Amino acid sequence: MNTVAPQHLDESIAKQLFFGQISEEALFPYPQIRERDREMLGAMTDAIDQFLADKGAELRQYDRDAEQPAGFIQALRDMGLFGLIIPEEYGGLELSNGAYARVLGQTSSHDSSVSLTIGAHSSIGMKGLLLFGNDEQKQRYLPQLASGEMIAAFCLTESGAGSDAAAIRTKATRNDDGSWTLSGEKIWITNGGIADFYTVFARTDTPEGKVTAFIVEAGWDGVSHGPHEDKMGIRASSTTTVAFNEVRVPAANVLGPVGKGFKVAMNILNSGRTGLGGGAVGGMRALIRMACAQANERKQFGQAIGEFGLVREKIAQMTADCFAAESTVWMVAHLIDSGRSDYSVEAAMSKVFASEAVQRCCYEALQIAAGNGFMRELPYEQMTRDTRILSIFEGTNEILRLYVALNGLKGVGATLSELQSAVGGIFNDPIKGFGVLGDYAGRRVREATGYGTDRIHHPVAEPLRPLARLCEKYVVELSKASDRLLRKHGKKIADEQHAQKRVADIAIDLFVGLCVLSRADSLVQSGHPAADDAVKIARLFARQARRRMARNIRGLERNEDGIIESLAASTLERGGYAFDVY
Ligand SMILES: Cc1cc2nc3c(=O)[nH]c(=O)nc-3n(C[C@H](O)[C@H](O)[C@H](O)COP(=O)(O)OP(=O)(O)OC[C@H]3O[C@@H](n4cnc5c(N)ncnc54)[C@H](O)[C@@H]3O)c2cc1C
Repeated sequence: MNTVAPQHLDESIAKQLFFGQISEEALFPYPQIRERDREMLGAMTDAIDQFLADKGAELRQYDRDAEQPAGFIQALRDMGLFGLIIPEEYGGLELSNGAYARVLGQTSSHDSSVSLTIGAHSSIGMKGLLLFGNDEQKQRYLPQLASGEMIAAFCLTESGAGSDAAAIRTKATRNDDGSWTLSGEKIWITNGGIADFYTVFARTDTPEGKVTAFIVEAGWDGVSHGPHEDKMGIRASSTTTVAFNEVRVPAANVLGPVGKGFKVAMNILNSGRTGLGGGAVGGMRALIRMACAQANERKQFGQAIGEFGLVREKIAQMTADCFAAESTVWMVAHLIDSGRSDYSVEAAMSKVFASEAVQRCCYEALQIAAGNGFMRELPYEQMTRDTRILSIFEGTNEILRLYVALNGLKGVGATLSELQSAVGGIFNDPIKGFGVLGDYAGRRVREATGYGTDRIHHPVAEPLRPLARLCEKYVVELSKASDRLLRKHGKKIADEQHAQKRVADIAIDLFVGLCVLSRADSLVQSGHPAADDAVKIARLFARQARRRMARNIRGLERNEDGIIESLAASTLERGGYAFDVY
């Protein structure tokens, strides 16, 4: 029996997967919601339902008008929705990340723009103040942010700096009195047109570093915003440019250390991703409800369409996707709440999975509603438009997949180079050298001899063993594949995006699979009335994930990447499609 290495709060569960290790004690048993959160959540979700349930027509009108009226935003303030994660001492509700994600799920089940207005304020707009603000800044701003008297926005993106956020040109220069002069323009800023408090990232080129974060008030001289953008989805939420024309920013409004703004931005984005995931899950719950009603009520060929296999297949897949996304988002929220410091890869995985799952769910629910689904009278088309943004902002899903792969591989690469230098220096320092070699060699031998066959020690319920075995098998496959890739490409792995995508997808399937396993096991152990369905979902996920992971592992060795690269090159060079039928 293998012994499980002790895990620490600063150790990433996702990165451990690349070493072939499953951090059981962090994943099992599935975390329970805190009693305080449970009580508050019941009241909040009821209040949200009461407020939004009969507002369908108004919310659709806001979508058409591309604006939430001031009276509606005031009602959100009155419900305390701007103070969800602010500590009680500043007048907020101090919800945990898990409970916060659940609240955004409830608002999203009615309207995504509502979630965006609240979420951009909490998840990114003022999150920097919570994470990096000093006491004086918190005293000055948090009470107004908690009441919603001040609404917050996060200003990073510029016309030349989207995914490549380090390319920002907005500039801040330090004045003799210690204040700063800020100039530049940000684009596509959520809440841009209604915010009073901006977290702004500017190039400072100081000896301490290149980028600094600032708190800027909308009312200051030189700050302005453009008109609301005419968007595809989440139309009612405000998205505008925000311009800074020689704005004087007092030294007291520097957020976090001077020169460390990039770190501030990345920390905000990493910790905000469960809010987005929670919203996606809320949307899926609503879509499943609507799809069931449609499938049960609509009759064709003398039968309810829900009796046809191809409709049932969609309902089952939506249910399994929702359970998997929910189990993962809440696991990640719990990891953050339990004080883990390194959760960015897990958060990226949950965002990728949940954002894609809700878009699949929109497609299938609309397909079940068919012609009715295509009509604007019903919510499907708006939900399809609204959810499209989820794989674009807070890090595109492409960038996040690369982030997952490179961060996982980086750890393995560091071990390999440590090994290389230890082997190189074995004659100078044999004890150190053999120590490192011993760990590594041990791992390789264990892998070669079926390491992992009893890896999950937690006694999962018998019907869940296939999913447990799958995770045990593929965590070893992931570790071997990482090892092979690094030996083959070395640092050049950073240029191998097709391989990175496959590795990221294997890791995401593994992490999501483990969250499904843990949650399903807890439901079985506690005798949940729908535990049988959780087992079915775990079995379905195991079979589908096995096929995906097997394909991705195979694809690392045998693939069409060369043809794809070459076809893309000629199409790009030509600037379009080469063929026609005449
Ligand atoms: C409605 C909306 C609200 C937004 N709200 C905010 C906000 O509140 N605050 C804020 O600061 N920003 C906000 N944004 C900006 C958002 O974060 C960016 O759109 C996002 O980061 C992507 O940047 P981009 O659109 O410029 O795409 P680009 O970076 O130009 O990317 C274009 C495509 O290329 C791919 N790509 C880029 N680089 C690579 C690479 N290295 N490898 C592989 N593929 C790559 C991308 O994945 C994408 O598919 C918002 C955007 C929208 C549309």
